[in-house]
Amino acid sequence: MTDRRHFLHTAAAASAGLILTPHVHGMTLPKANRKSSSKRMSLTFFPYELKMRHVFTVASYSRSTTPDIQVELSYDGLTGYGEACMPPYLARELGTVDSVMQFLARVATRIGDFSDPFQMEEILGEIDRMDDGNAAGKAAVDIALHDLVGKLMGQPWYRIWGLNPAKAPDTTFTIGIDTPEVVREKTRECAARFNILKVKVGLDSDRDMIQAIRSVTTLPLAVDANQGWKDRQQAIDMIHWLHEQGVVMVEQPMPKTQLDDIAWLTERSPVPIFADESVQRLSDIARLQGAFSGINIKLMKCTGMREAWKMVQATRALGMKVMLGCMTETSCGISAAAQLSPAVDFADLDGNLLIANDRFRGVEVVKGRLTLPGGAGIGVTPVSVARRE
Ligand SMILES: [Mg+2]
Repeated sequence: MTDRRHFLHTAAAASAGLILTPHVHGMTLPKANRKSSSKRMSLTFFPYELKMRHVFTVASYSRSTTPDIQVELSYDGLTGYGEACMPPYLARELGTVDSVMQFLARVATRIGDFSDPFQMEEILGEIDRMDDGNAAGKAAVDIALHDLVGKLMGQPWYRIWGLNPAKAPDTTFTIGIDTPEVVREKTRECAARFNILKVKVGLDSDRDMIQAIRSVTTLPLAVDANQGWKDRQQAIDMIHWLHEQGVVMVEQPMPKTQLDDIAWLTERSPVPIFADESVQRLSDIARLQGAFSGINIKLMKCTGMREAWKMVQATRALGMKVMLGCMTETSCGISAAAQLSPAVDFADLDGNLLIANDRFRGVEVVKGRLTLPGGAGIGVTPVSVARRE
């Protein structure tokens, strides 16, 4: 009832044109959010290296940290939080710490010129046009602006978009490549907390990995080949075998430009085939129709929540499936992506669970399912004041 009253109150305030006043919706905001009150947006940001709980290994590399930048957008006593995460292998599309810091410095000099944070199309469109790359920097500003506008409205984005949080899906959790004993042990741990597991494939050891997992659990599996199969016949044979092993979806089976081969596979595959490396932004989707069953949307790649929501609509309009993915991010980026999750078929939002120095609390995994926070905006609360180095 409280929620319903609160919503009606906000809706009435919105129609009365009063919504820019944060006091209208009567929300209790964390003290830290009540900074100096200025009706001019201002952007601050600082590098924040993410420390991984365990060394992360995929087919081509291992790493124990991830470069990241934290962003805060202040306006009228409220703070919107955002994040840019830049795993080194995606530097060309996402940017590096240096390039994103420079990009954000340019954005910081412009953002105060926009008088109304609700004009998100105009603000984010102009920021997008400022640079060809640095998608992660754009995503950081986009997330912070969504958080701010959601707070001004007193609503989480899943409600603003009209989504039902009870429809949020299970999230996959990735089991890293390792020896069969370690894989069995990790699988045992994860099988108790998740309802679907993800495995990176594309190596000679694939069958051993899958069999090690299958020796301890019957949970459904998602696999990501990360473009690893070079021959379509080999790929379809493997997909059939994986299907027999309880695999329910395959991500990026072959190199991103081999769309004819991937279309051949999708036509024959008993499970849906999703694009990841083949897709970055909204404009990539149309040419993937027919080649893939669905696409993987990641905020850092697609410049944030605004474009991701458009990508969900475009993908559905083309009769394709949608999944949500992530980088290793704090609960800021993950909770932003999770706002969209009731609208997708699969969620792969485990990035915040992999780091040891999360700055926020937000979306949680309860019995394997994403549980969306009720707070306004992206629904995150800072858990500590990080030292600014
Ligand atoms: Mg992938």
